[in-house]
Amino acid sequence: MVEVLKYDIVILGSGLAGLRAALQAAYVSRGRARIAVLSKVQAMRSHSVSAEGGASAVLYPKETGDSIDLHAYDTVKGSDFLADQDAVELMVQMAPQEVRFLERLGVPWSRDEKGRIFQRPFGGMSIPRTAFAQDKTGFFIMSTLYQNVFRFDNVDIYHEHFVTKIIVENDEFKGVTAIDLKTGEFKLFLAKAGIIAAGGAGRLYRFTTTAHSTTGELITFAMRAGAGVKDMEFVQWHPTALVPSGILISEAARGEGAYLVNKLGERFMKNYAPQKMELAPRDIVSRAILIECREGRGFIHEESGMCYVGLDLRHLSEDVINRKLPFIRELAHKYAGLDPLSDLIPVRPAVHYTMGGVHADINGRVLRADGTWIRGLWAAGEAASISVHGANRLGSNSLTECLVWGHITGEEAAKYAMEKPEVSVEGSIIDVAKREESRVFDKLIHKEVNASTPYDIKRELNDIMEEHFGPFREASKMSEGLSKLHRLLERAGSMRIDDSNRVYNQNLKDALEVDGMVELALVVGLGAYARTESRGAHYRLDYPKRDDVNWLKHTVAYLYGGEIQLTYVPVRITRWKPEERKY
Ligand SMILES: Cc1cc2nc3c(=O)[nH]c(=O)nc-3n(C[C@H](O)[C@H](O)[C@H](O)COP(=O)(O)OP(=O)(O)OC[C@H]3O[C@@H](n4cnc5c(N)ncnc54)[C@H](O)[C@@H]3O)c2cc1C
Repeated sequence: MVEVLKYDIVILGSGLAGLRAALQAAYVSRGRARIAVLSKVQAMRSHSVSAEGGASAVLYPKETGDSIDLHAYDTVKGSDFLADQDAVELMVQMAPQEVRFLERLGVPWSRDEKGRIFQRPFGGMSIPRTAFAQDKTGFFIMSTLYQNVFRFDNVDIYHEHFVTKIIVENDEFKGVTAIDLKTGEFKLFLAKAGIIAAGGAGRLYRFTTTAHSTTGELITFAMRAGAGVKDMEFVQWHPTALVPSGILISEAARGEGAYLVNKLGERFMKNYAPQKMELAPRDIVSRAILIECREGRGFIHEESGMCYVGLDLRHLSEDVINRKLPFIRELAHKYAGLDPLSDLIPVRPAVHYTMGGVHADINGRVLRADGTWIRGLWAAGEAASISVHGANRLGSNSLTECLVWGHITGEEAAKYAMEKPEVSVEGSIIDVAKREESRVFDKLIHKEVNASTPYDIKRELNDIMEEHFGPFREASKMSEGLSKLHRLLERAGSMRIDDSNRVYNQNLKDALEVDGMVELALVVGLGAYARTESRGAHYRLDYPKRDDVNWLKHTVAYLYGGEIQLTYVPVRITRWKPEERKY
């Protein structure tokens, strides 16, 4: 039996973008809009809690010489000129007010001796502009937003509710279906407005810094509901993940002055980005590390066989490390058994961020491939491609993006919902929900002995993505990878789910994630194969140059007759003409 719940706004995801949107919608509607926030994990376990380094914003322009224009320019240049410049300008203009808003709510920003919010340098930024709360920024912001959301009686948080379908009828958002994982109950959330804030898709790959829940299926479900999916071929590798676990060692370490050294003891970044050195953008530093490894100048980790370089903090004072990087010291100690005061930290690049996502305009409105809005539906945060990061995100711009578009989409959705008449319970939508319940519980759960489990499929998916769509790509490898992905998609259609219980059926949850992941991996692969140039994080050995004549455009994937198709939309350029990226 499908339980029906009625809301004004339903927010899919309780990370930074989702909670910021909930708070804004609550403010704007003066507590009148009924808001549901759904999360497949406990809300405070959303991936955002693990953000370490900070959020970028121009806070003290007079004292530091920083400016809104400079932040915008750094972001556009960092994006390898694929970002939509009007969206970048909006983000950097709103960033300072968002940081100060969080200050008023109670985020304990780290401060200098004058009491001002401290700002540290980050890769690709011309000036220190990353505000931080030690190296646990995500945790502090999430805790603050979460506590503040509780001040509103009209916001209901549904922990451990897995969204299985986004319902759109006649080009209008109607609601979502979700399983309450704790009980197995199937629910229909009818709403006037929806915001997709479901995070990225780092787990398409094996070696990643992202949480296990970062699987991206809701991006696929949005595509199934008619949305475009933009620029998914741009996958960010973060240069410094701990070897062999993949746990992030934040860019904050290099921001505070840490070096990268090869096994000859050289600061090799001088050969790749002589001006910015370790603080060049992530795509450049990641490729540099991998080239050092390829050319035999990396260290080899004995147990895993992984090649790595050393992150050297030994010249930093114990006081700086303890005050500004305590978490990094703790991680190095707990997960590698060493102390950065005296040892090099072993690091190599790992998948970290999804530049692409649900195709959305500057207000976060979700678009079809033809550019029309799916009325009542917005997207924010890492799940959205608005696009401010283009081909390569600069560190600390993601938290800022989550805050800015959490704010914008929460406000827009609240205003939209307050003007709409009460949601009516239409029979056609109940039928959709019933069919979805049957798909999930009757069709997905079966025990055909020879079928693959979700774990088999996910393992193979990770193998394919690592081998065929890694940081160095080429046509023949990708073509082979695409054939494998097509075969995997077929097998994913008849996975074996051994657990037929409804209560806490993790086996079913894993299968639902995998069901969306393989299709999303195909979107990554098709976009990467088609894009015959190198730009930002998308690097092709067979096309090593950026090609603005043919490729200064966004890829938009969409479903047509059940098949993934690609189309392209222009990049919006306001002030900064594409130029060669030098650091
Ligand atoms: C280790 C690490 C450190 C980082 N540090 C920084 C930093 O210092 N600065 C910076 O700018 N960026 C940083 N980033 C990136 C940044 O943390 C993320 O981009 C950002 O937190 C994403 O927030 P979000 O709200 O979009 O999504 P998330 O925080 O990932 O939340 C996604 C939400 O969607 C829900 N969800 C997903 N699918 C479903 C479903 N099917 N049904 C129901 N709910 C669903 C999840 O339960 C969750 O609540 C870091 C990334 C990593 C991996």
